[in-house]
Amino acid sequence: MPKAKSKSKKTVLFDRVAFIGIGLIGASMALAMRRAGLVRTVVACARRPKTRKAALDLGIANEVTKDYAKAVAGADLVVIATPVSTNGAIAKAIAAHLKPGAIVTDVGSVKQAVIDAVAPHIPKGVHFVPGHPIAGTEHSGPESGFAELFDNRWTILTPLPRTSPKAVAKVADMWRKMGAKVDTMKPDHHDMVLAITSHLPHLCAYTVVGTATDLAGDLQQEVIKYSASGFRDFTRVAASDPVMWRDIFLSNRDAVLDILQRFTEDLAGMQKHIRRGDGEALEKMFTRTRAIRRGIIEAKQA
Ligand code: NAP
Repeated sequence: MPKAKSKSKKTVLFDRVAFIGIGLIGASMALAMRRAGLVRTVVACARRPKTRKAALDLGIANEVTKDYAKAVAGADLVVIATPVSTNGAIAKAIAAHLKPGAIVTDVGSVKQAVIDAVAPHIPKGVHFVPGHPIAGTEHSGPESGFAELFDNRWTILTPLPRTSPKAVAKVADMWRKMGAKVDTMKPDHHDMVLAITSHLPHLCAYTVVGTATDLAGDLQQEVIKYSASGFRDFTRVAASDPVMWRDIFLSNRDAVLDILQRFTEDLAGMQKHIRRGDGEALEKMFTRTRAIRRGIIEAKQA
């Protein structure tokens, strides 16, 4: 078992951190915490022996278990890092075993649905600080985790009105020390912002790649052969984890449908410009979108 301990005593924020789910996000968090010396002992909980073995072999966790109760016993911080549809059942299963004064956080890409599912199970004296790191890749599992994932990326915290400000400050401090920038917002606002910036683009990518896959014969072969001309970027996004994205669309349904409605209206507008040969309208639109890309580069979020 790897003996990865914190480097510096004075930066330790949590003696024992339990990760329920140790995939891309959980593993990256554990590695980023170790890099900053924020934790003494990392416990990882996952269902499959293969996942648990990888977490140990890669030095991500000191201890592994498939037992939720064992994982959270004595933990100062519990991070739920599994697909969002599992979060409610996990909260229910760990509730009776949480240490008084512990902090529970999560990393779910949707916030209101996770809060609705998790918060009712959190016992008095335990602090729930919902969170979402806006960082990721199309890869899954502990092998894909890396300590730098959150560097200079935003993490959004969506505390409930009753959440202890001290617990929120501690989680924010942890994320900053892991390299991230931190913002707080209301959960429904988070869900609307992410519907535009993440969920709609993923839906477009899944659809574009799906349309190409449905093409018959030669045309499909050529799509793959000449993919460098734009299609390739869509395939990277559309390679994202199917279970995770199924859960995101089902649990952020209202915000996604709202944004999708606006998007289809705008798409119909583009269709009209092309049909009418309105080059001026197209150019105006593309000039505006180019400026957005420049803004993202300037904000160092490219
Ligand atoms: P991932 O790489 O697929 O990892 C999921 C982990 O959870 C695995 O270790 C899996 O191992 C474990 N797991 C799944 N169901 C479980 C259960 N019922 N009980 C215990 N462990 C379970 O997924 P991820 O990308 O890290 O995503 C995790 C969360 O982060 C999701 O809620 C997602 O919305 C959020 N998020 C993802 C990204 C991204 O880009 N990927 C970005 C920000 C936030 P076993 O299969 O062995 O159990």
